[in-house]
Amino acid sequence: MSRSFDEMDPRRALAEIARDFHARGWMAGTAGNLSARDHTDPNSFWITASGQAKGRLDEADFLRLGLNHDDVIERGREGIKPSAETSIHRAIYRLFPEARACLHVHSVDASLAAARAGAAAQSLPLPPLEMIKGLGIWEENPRVALTLFSNWLHVPTIATDIETRFRAAPPPVPALMIHHHGTTVWGGSLQEAYNRVEIVEFLMSYLARGG
Ligand SMILES: [Zn+2]
Repeated sequence: MSRSFDEMDPRRALAEIARDFHARGWMAGTAGNLSARDHTDPNSFWITASGQAKGRLDEADFLRLGLNHDDVIERGREGIKPSAETSIHRAIYRLFPEARACLHVHSVDASLAAARAGAAAQSLPLPPLEMIKGLGIWEENPRVALTLFSNWLHVPTIATDIETRFRAAPPPVPALMIHHHGTTVWGGSLQEAYNRVEIVEFLMSYLARGG
């Protein structure tokens, strides 16, 4: 059996996860971005480089960034730039000190599910399926919702919205959705975040099909 993602170098683990998510249609082309905190310096994180095909990443396609500044600490190779959506990852790590990984994907089903709630909807009620236990909800007929955000071309505006709303009211599940865009999920380990992406996308598929 292969090692768990958390025993691997985060760059290798994230490249493997990107290939997996690409194969499922959640990271088509260069879409989506993945990050994980550094094993030795938790005030920094590794993130996918901008504009790279997500089915073909290798360990050099990552940069290490600080949580509280824009400087690049390490660069896998010359010429690469951090993901254009880095500010969302930084917001999640600042909001949730326990988050060790943050995974953002663009799926058809999540966009359809949010659209069904209406473009102005601020939250998306999740179906009370057994699978929701994977998001830490252990209730009979749970009534929880995924927080929805507006999509802005200027990504730091989305990140500011996330920090503002979640500081005022923490989200009920470790995930969020940006309208017409995709989901962002975080976890206390890379494996946990990976599992949660699968759960959230399962719930989004159910809703997209009219559930
Ligand atoms: Zn995105």
